[in-house]
Amino acid sequence: MDKTEYNKKYRLDHITYFHEYDKERYLTNKDDILVNRKEDREKYPDKYKKRDKLNYRKLRIQVIMALGEKCVDCRTMDIRVLDAHHINGGGSQQFKTFGNYKKYYKYIIDNPTEFLLLCANCHRIRHYGDLDG
Ligand SMILES: [Zn+2]
Repeated sequence: MDKTEYNKKYRLDHITYFHEYDKERYLTNKDDILVNRKEDREKYPDKYKKRDKLNYRKLRIQVIMALGEKCVDCRTMDIRVLDAHHINGGGSQQFKTFGNYKKYYKYIIDNPTEFLLLCANCHRIRHYGDLDG
């Protein structure tokens, strides 16, 4: 086992300790960490763009899984076209109150009964008569 593998294994074996350590380190150095992160983000935009996109897709997949994996109208499972549709309407207004997709997607995952999974076509069809949205 090389050093990197050993460190990885050690960290995994002591995961609770490291989570607490990271959390405490973050809370005590929050301002510096956020500034460094911002600077790093400006220095390596491509690295972060790729990572953000990947994280967005991972969270999107969790939303799709939470909502039943297929369009409720046409049963398509193509993840590229699946959207969360708010049952009571006002999804875009609600999205604005969360401010970013991460918080909103986590809300959807925690409250799946408020949403339906629809493909882009079926979603547009449902909203066709909807003059407010
Ligand atoms: Zn559909």
